[in-house]
Amino acid sequence: MLVPARVAGQLQWWSLTAKPLHDGAGQWQGWRGVGSDITAARQRELEMARLAHIDTLTGLANRYQFGKRLAGYFAPAASAGPCTLLLLDLDNFKTVNDSLGQAVGDQLLQEVAQRLQSVLDPLALLARLGGDEFALLLPGMLERPEAERLGAQMQDVLAQPWTANGHRIAVHASIGVGFAPVDADTAEQLLKVSDMALYAAKAAGRHTLRFFDPALALRAQQHLAVLSDLDQALQRGEFVLHYQPQVDLASGALLGFEALVRWQHPLRGLVSPLEFITVAEESGLIVPLGAWVLRQACVDAVGWPAHLRVAVNLSAVQFGNADVLAVVDNALQHSGLPSARLELEITESTLMHDSQAALAVLHALRAKGVRVALDDFGTGYSSLAYLRSFPLDKLKIDRSFVSILDAADGDSSAAAIVQTIVQLAQALHLETTAEGVETAAQFEQLRRMGCAQAQGYWIAKPMDAAHARAFIMGWSDAALA
Ligand code: C2E
Ligand code: MG
Ligand code: MG
Repeated sequence: MLVPARVAGQLQWWSLTAKPLHDGAGQWQGWRGVGSDITAARQRELEMARLAHIDTLTGLANRYQFGKRLAGYFAPAASAGPCTLLLLDLDNFKTVNDSLGQAVGDQLLQEVAQRLQSVLDPLALLARLGGDEFALLLPGMLERPEAERLGAQMQDVLAQPWTANGHRIAVHASIGVGFAPVDADTAEQLLKVSDMALYAAKAAGRHTLRFFDPALALRAQQHLAVLSDLDQALQRGEFVLHYQPQVDLASGALLGFEALVRWQHPLRGLVSPLEFITVAEESGLIVPLGAWVLRQACVDAVGWPAHLRVAVNLSAVQFGNADVLAVVDNALQHSGLPSARLELEITESTLMHDSQAALAVLHALRAKGVRVALDDFGTGYSSLAYLRSFPLDKLKIDRSFVSILDAADGDSSAAAIVQTIVQLAQALHLETTAEGVETAAQFEQLRRMGCAQAQGYWIAKPMDAAHARAFIMGWSDAALA
């Protein structure tokens, strides 16, 4: 028998075991046994049970406890009934974690847990499901406006700036909401639909809230279809490369082309990389696809005049793959393209993900004579320290700054940003290429600002390999002078 006992005001646990004693005639005489104080063991056991149910970092319920509570809302449990699930995911957690370190990331998660709890009523179960994903489970189906209000309240309390190691960090969260039984009749399904809503919230821009609706399920199905289609597309040879010219702003000389992949889909026609690169990254298909792109681009470029370069986009996923150097070597050897004619475009996220590894790969690429450009510059979180420590050849100024250069509303901050980037690049001995140049006015302004190179519809749209060859033949430096 396990007996609680209070001794001098302290709770203790005793374990009592005993055997009945009988005399020769079988008459009961009493008990003989042992009593021991097992308070310490009992406390350990309770602590283990508690730990199994809580997330040790934040003290919130963990996935296990959340799963048990969620299952309880669905029959046959006695506690079955309607419920509302809000899934919340921090928008910029990965950046914080990557740039400021895991210790700061952990502090941030603790802060988030505390803030969320401060606005919630005690009937709600707040859990951390893993990483930067939180779940809020409420009894009953909330009215939509009510759920929206609750979501906004959570977003507001998180958006209060938070300071760590002298960095001021604003936390934004996306929220997806699902209701049972209207959206789901099992626990797994409620999780799934809320997750789709969360995905939609993220896609709609950050810091938003979305409810599940059946159209989302359809879209998720299409996403899956793209995934399985993509897999076969590579085997069927359905990818093609288009090439967009890059020119020297001062002389008007043609410098080379950027290779941009497209999917020649048998039913849908030419599909933009924006529709499939992310999916390919998530599924890992980007590794063989990227290797194909690199090989094909080198094969095409080797047929161009020897002064022209080819730029190829590398995804962070490819870059994190140890084989990236072998893939580059392979493409160069296979095609016979001199390494100095190959430029690789990487993004800031590639550098932030695993900086030490990225640094080593960049040095190895540069040692081969391959050039490296930082794509979409200005949209990420690059710090000056990064720019100085990574061996780069070029910054590509993101289209979003270029496109508003000559805007009618006269937004002068875009001009100031572009000018600053150009000066920064000059100080660091980096070339600059302005992306997305669409008008003569933008072209002129960039030239005046001292930007070295340009790429954009005003010069030419991306074109297939045959048209690129014709474009080279017909090019005259004077055309842009
Ligand atoms: P990116 O590397 O920044 O490429 C530039 C994008 O801007 C291209 O879109 C290009 O067609 C578009 N663009 C160029 N000039 C203009 C202009 O004047 N105005 C406008 N509005 N757009 C212009 P695209 O081809 O749709 O590619 C989108 C993105 O997909 C690329 O952005 C790149 O991040 C990615 N991507 C394309 N090909 C590959 C690839 O082979 N591998 C990887 N990992 N990513 C790729
Ligand atoms: Mg690019
Ligand atoms: Mg770009």
